[in-house]
Parts: sequence; structure tokens; C-alpha cells
Amino acid sequence: MPSTIEVSGVSHRYGRLPALRGVDLRVDPHEVVCMVGPSGCGKSTLLRLISGLETLQDGAIAIGGAVVATPGRSLPPERRSVGMMFQDFALFPHLTVAGNIGFGLRHRPRAERDRKVAELLELVALKGYGDSYPHMLSGGQQQRVALARAMARDPAVLLLDEPFSALDEQLRRSVREEVVQIIKATGIATVVVTHDPDEALEIGQRVVVMSEGLVVQDDTPLALYHNPASSFVAQLFGELNRFEAQVTDGRLDTPFGRFDVPALPHGGAIEVACRVEDVTLLPPDGINGGGHAAIPATVRRTSFMGNSTRVCLSLPAPGRDGSVEIHARVPGYVPMPPGAAVAATIAPDRLLLFPKAARA
Ligand code: ADP
Repeated sequence: MPSTIEVSGVSHRYGRLPALRGVDLRVDPHEVVCMVGPSGCGKSTLLRLISGLETLQDGAIAIGGAVVATPGRSLPPERRSVGMMFQDFALFPHLTVAGNIGFGLRHRPRAERDRKVAELLELVALKGYGDSYPHMLSGGQQQRVALARAMARDPAVLLLDEPFSALDEQLRRSVREEVVQIIKATGIATVVVTHDPDEALEIGQRVVVMSEGLVVQDDTPLALYHNPASSFVAQLFGELNRFEAQVTDGRLDTPFGRFDVPALPHGGAIEVACRVEDVTLLPPDGINGGGHAAIPATVRRTSFMGNSTRVCLSLPAPGRDGSVEIHARVPGYVPMPPGAAVAATIAPDRLLLFPKAARA
């Protein structure tokens, strides 16, 4: 039966190295949660603790409301009802597809095993492939066999560690769409670990961003993209322009002009960022329909990116001589020679503001 995963206050060390620092995470049935963060931030450690492959040192882990691990008391992996799939999901080459899927059920009665294998073959759309061997299947089909194998013992929860990284770019998108559709249809609470932020946004109903053993944001993909909790989270999900500014009487001077920030304290230092795709370019005499003034800018260079053009611009530096370099990304191919005059603007609600911590 699909169950909830609850991780409370989990910390972990390897020797003196802290790998997790007070992590809380809850995943409910019918939820696919993606955990993303740079290599070494603790994602695999958390999965191994949930599955029981690693011994819990601090905190608690419950599955379906039952505590499976506290320090000093831990259920072995086979009694946790956890299905797992890893990056190198290696199928047994000498076993058929049916043999691979039913491997974990080999001690069960034959009829029960056959029934379950048939049900899983249907679930992963491989009916008729039971007698095939892994090498006869495509990469995507093999991945679905691995998923079926992970689900053979009716797990209460599913943990997938970098499940798609071994697939080539072309295959990855379609396979992950298929796999995630299958998982969503079962309603099993699932955690997918990835180091690929785009993949996290695409498949996670919720995305948990980790850095150095901490959960730095746990949100929907839309909220993460539009309201990142820090510049670290913001830059994970796309190219940014970044500059520093100071609040003066409720206003912020930026290369895009002045913005009202009544809620921010006078004199506060702010890290300002904006996504390159949020910068709008207009003709030099352009009038911004959105209400915020456009700033005269000069094109330095452009690069054609296939579905968009990346434009590097010079804007006057606010409050001093000189200029600042800003990047924009506009859809399609937009030819603009170096030196061309344009106007640049950004909607006020697309500025990302991160107050800098006051120095002691
Ligand atoms: P991620 O999955 O995000 O790449 P990991 O959970 O694998 O991160 O690792 C977190 C940190 O713990 C890293 O610094 C890693 O080097 C360290 N680490 C992971 N496993 C071990 C281990 N078995 N022994 C010692 N250090 C480990």
C-alpha cells in the first residue's frame, strides 16, 4: 500500500565529515519528489538511510507511520518495504525479463510469482517480452524492466538514485517521461535523486534543493523558479545577471533603473539577480508597455543558441561612470550587430532580491 516517508532531524557523518545536517523531508502517496543538488551534498546518503543500507546516527525515519530507524534501533532493508532503482540498474544478463522482474520473489510459490510478473509486465508496457533477454531490449525498455523489478515486492515507497543518468540525451527525456507516468499511476510515494536541475523541474511535483548536507529549499518547481530562497537556488535553475545594490529611502538603483522596495530597510545591501530570459529588449526608442522605463543599451556581441539568441549588452552603471555587462536571452534567431543601439528593461516582479547578511 502506498505510504508516507517521513525523515525528521536526520544528521549523518562519515568520520568527521558532516554529510547531512538536520534534514527534514516528508513525501506523501501520489507524490514524486525530486532531490537535487551538487555532487557531494548528501543526496545518496539520505536515500541509503531511508532504505536501511546506511545506519542512522541521528534523527528518525518513518515509513507509513511506523518508525523504521532511530539511533540504535533499525529495521533491516528487506523489512522496510522500500523499492530501489539506481543509476547502474544492471539487469542479470543470463536471466530473462520475467526472471529479472521475479528475482526478488524467487522464494514465493510459482503461481504467485508468475501472476505478479505478468501484472508488472503489463504495468511497464512490456507484455510479451517476458521471455526476452536484456540484451534484446532497448535502453528504455531495460529501464522499465529495472523499474518493474524494483516494484516486484509491492514496495510502500520508491527511491530512485540518478535513474536516468546512464541514458544518452536523446533517450533520457522519453524514458523518464514514461517511467514517471508509470510511477504516478501507482501512487507510490517516490523520491528521485538527480544532479540535473532541469530534470528536477520536469519530473518533480516538489523539488528539494540540497547544499552541503542541508535542505535549502523544498517547494514546487514554479515556486523554486520564481521565488528562489537564495541566489544559490536561483542560479541552479538558469543563467542569471547578478549585481549588488543598496537600498536608499525605499528605492533600489540597478542597471535597469530605480525600483521601489518599500519593505526593505534603508542602507541595506542587496544582492540583485535577474534571469537572462526575463530581460526584454526593445528598439532604442522603445516604450515599455509594462510601465517600467527602458534603459538605453549597446549590443556587445550575440551568440546563436539554436532556439534562442544570447545577447551581451552594455548598460550604463547606476550612479557612477562606466558600464555594466548584462546578458539577455531572446527566443529565436535575432541578428544584432555589435554596437547596435537597443533598450533593455525588466518587469519589477522579475527582479530577484536577496538581502545580504549584515557583517558582524
Ligand atoms: P551526493 O549523493 O549528493 O553526491 P553523497 O551522499 O554521496 O552525496 O555524499 C555526501 C558526502 O559524504 C560527500 O562528501 C562524500 O564524499 C561523503 N561520503 C559519501 N559516502 C561516503 C562513505 N561511504 N565514506 C566516507 N565518505 C562518504
